[in-house]
Amino acid sequence: MDRTILHMDLDTFFVSVERKHNASLKDKPVLVGGTGDRGVVAACSYETRRFGVHSGMSMKMARVLCPEATVIRGDAGTYSQESKVISEIIQEAVPVFEKASIDEFYADLTGMDKFYSSYKMATELRAKIKNESGLPISFGLSTSKVVSKVATGEAKPDNHRQVGVGEEKSFLAPMLIRKIPMVGDKTDKILYNMGVKYVRTIQDMPVEMLTEVLGKNGTLLWNRANGFDNSPIIPFHERKSISNERTFGKDTGDVKRMREMIRAMAENLAYQLRNGNKLTSCVSVKIRYSDFNTFSRQLKIPYTSADHMLIPQTERLFEQLYNRRMMVRLVGVSFSDLVTGNYQINLFDDTAELMNLYQAMDHIRNKYGTDKRGNSILSWGTTIDIPNIASIGNPFNGEPPVVPAHRNT
Ligand SMILES: [Mg+2]
Repeated sequence: MDRTILHMDLDTFFVSVERKHNASLKDKPVLVGGTGDRGVVAACSYETRRFGVHSGMSMKMARVLCPEATVIRGDAGTYSQESKVISEIIQEAVPVFEKASIDEFYADLTGMDKFYSSYKMATELRAKIKNESGLPISFGLSTSKVVSKVATGEAKPDNHRQVGVGEEKSFLAPMLIRKIPMVGDKTDKILYNMGVKYVRTIQDMPVEMLTEVLGKNGTLLWNRANGFDNSPIIPFHERKSISNERTFGKDTGDVKRMREMIRAMAENLAYQLRNGNKLTSCVSVKIRYSDFNTFSRQLKIPYTSADHMLIPQTERLFEQLYNRRMMVRLVGVSFSDLVTGNYQINLFDDTAELMNLYQAMDHIRNKYGTDKRGNSILSWGTTIDIPNIASIGNPFNGEPPVVPAHRNT
C-alpha cells in the first residue's frame, strides 16, 4: 500500500520569530546569528539571498554583501519555546509524527484518506499553525519522506506542494542533484565531475554505476532519485534520551570525586550528542545514596549540544541535589528531549573560533577515539575514567541522514 507522508518546515524560522516580535522587520532584509566580529549567520531572510547571503557564512561577509540588513543576535530560548508550541499543535492533529529538527516535522497520514482527505487535513493543519503561532510554514505531501521534503523545498516560501502517487520520478527528474537530501558538497562535486548535474541523469543510469562510484550511498542515492524511499517516521515520543551512570565500587563521601564524575559524564554525553547531530533541551542528574534512596532533578534548557552550556547546568543540578550527609552509591547524568540539529542553534553565543574548536576536538576524538578503557583522550581538563560509555560512533543509528540546515530553511 502506498504511504502518505507529510513534511512540514517553518520558513526562515529564526527570522520569522524575530519578525513576530518586531513587525517593523517584515519584508526587510534580516540576518540572525552571532553579532560579534567573528559571528556566523544562523538564518537569513529571503530578501538577503539575492545578495548571495546564506546561513553558515561569516556575519562580517554577510554585512558586506547586504549592508542594509538588520542584524539580530538570536535567542535559542525563544526559538526552542516556539518550536515546542508548534510541536504540540501537530501532535494534537496527527496520529504519528517525527520532530526532525527544531523547525521541521514529518507525519504519517497513511490510511487517513479513508476518512478524510490527507491533502485537506495537511492544508488545515498548516492554516492552524500559521494562525496560532503567527509563523509561516510550508509543507510537502507525497508517498515518502524524501519526496515530501523536496516538495516542501520547492513550495517555499509560505506555500505547499503535493506530489501524486506515480508522479515522484517525473517530479524529481528536472532538479539539480543537490536538492536530494543526503547530497552534500562532496557528493555533488564527484557527480558534477562525472557530468551528472540533474536527477534525470541518475534515473537513467544503472544503479551499479552509481554504486561503483559512491559505494553503499550510491544505491541509496539512486533509490532516492527514483522516488523509492521506505524510511519510516520515527515517533517523537520514542526518541531516546542518552544517559550514563556509575556505581562506585565502594560508597563514597568524596564530593570532589563525585563532581569530577558528573562533569566527565556530561562532557562525554555532549560529545555523543554532537556526533549524532542531536540537541538536548532537558538535563537531569541522579544520586543514589547508600540507603538506596534515589533522587533526581531535571532542568529544561534551550536546545544545545555545547559543552560550555551543558557542563555548568549539570554541575549546578548536582550541587542542588546533593544535600544529604550520607555516603553515595551511584551518580548519573541524562540528556533527554532530543531533536536533530547541529551547532547552528548555539551560534548566537558562540564565535566562529569556539565552533571550530568543538569541530576540531570532535574530529580528533573521532580519529583517535578513546584510550584502552574507552575514555575520550580529549577533555576540558577532566581525567577521570568513565567506563561503560557507549563507544565512539553515532549512538543514534537508524536515523535518516541529516541535511545541513542551510540548504533547507
Ligand atoms: Mg525551516
